[in-house]
Amino acid sequence: MKKYSLLMLALALVLVLSACGNNGGNSSGGSSEGTKGKVGIAMPTKSSERWVNDGNNMVKEFKSLGYGTDLQYAEDVVENQVSQIENMITKGVKAIVIASIDGEALTDVLQKAHDANVKIIAYDRLIKKSEFVDYYATFDNFKVGVLQGSYIEEKLGLKEGKGPFNIELFGGSPDDNNAYFFFDGAMSILKPYIDSGKLVVRSKQITMDQVATLRWDGAAAQARMDNLLSANYASDNLDAVLSPYDGISIGILSSLKGVGYGSGDKKLPVVTGQDAELASVKSILAGEQTQTVFKDTRELAKKAVEMTESVLNGTEAEVNDTTTYNNGVKIVPSYLLEPVSVDASNVDKVLVDGGYYTKEQLGK
Ligand code: BGC
Repeated sequence: MKKYSLLMLALALVLVLSACGNNGGNSSGGSSEGTKGKVGIAMPTKSSERWVNDGNNMVKEFKSLGYGTDLQYAEDVVENQVSQIENMITKGVKAIVIASIDGEALTDVLQKAHDANVKIIAYDRLIKKSEFVDYYATFDNFKVGVLQGSYIEEKLGLKEGKGPFNIELFGGSPDDNNAYFFFDGAMSILKPYIDSGKLVVRSKQITMDQVATLRWDGAAAQARMDNLLSANYASDNLDAVLSPYDGISIGILSSLKGVGYGSGDKKLPVVTGQDAELASVKSILAGEQTQTVFKDTRELAKKAVEMTESVLNGTEAEVNDTTTYNNGVKIVPSYLLEPVSVDASNVDKVLVDGGYYTKEQLGK
């Protein structure tokens, strides 16, 4: 009898352990062992393709260096992310790479990480209000906005004095530090034209608190676009929309198409985007979305992994910016990669020749 229950206990233990090994026990990307110890990867959501690629790319890079990984997605719920990070600390990871949901919500959990000697790398999004952020790997976020604003400037011929044109503006999530950089970068190009009257924002909504889109939610953007169109464009034509992210652009485009843009002689406005997500690249090729900003997640993953290795080896990581990213407590040493503007004219060169998508994926 005693032997039998011991056997059952052992069996139960094996089942529990293998379940943990398979999925880390949560909304997960999975967990794996390595000879150099384990690293946690906390990503915001699987609902956007880019974060899925980021997570997978990092797992690949860490594995090739001998690290195990614990990859978790929090489905854009801040509390999930905090408890996933807590779990990683409890499980004894050596470092955690974090793309935060709310950049100001991790102060307490990073204190716990520090107390357990766990190193922290901020991934793509700055983590604010904590001194325990070792490095930050990201893109030149201001430049992302400049690329979007300049694209609108060029497409409308604003430099050549054309206009006035009607434009509406969308911002990213107000709890994501990047959203302000994108918006400020775009406005550095567009604001002078708004001031001179060559660009007209009929809704008069031109500040981040008026145009932000909580959690980058495409459905929320679509609802706002519906309202903007019915309140301001019953008889006027909309010529351009500043959109900070492909998922938001998709929402904006469905709203526009819903009131007849893109059919007959009602041309779709210029619509920007970001991330070169597959659906949006296809939309660009189909003549709907006009532009996106490509950020090579393979390069970002490599950078973040290099930074993690350095910090674990006690050496200094390569950085190229030590002035921009003040998180309220310290300036976080950063590496900024270059974003690239993509439209129908350079999809092949940038995304296909660069090996990011195959021609088949793009339906070519
Ligand atoms: C990232 C963008 C992304 C957005 C929405 C931002 O923090 O930098 O690449 O489009 O989040 O996921």
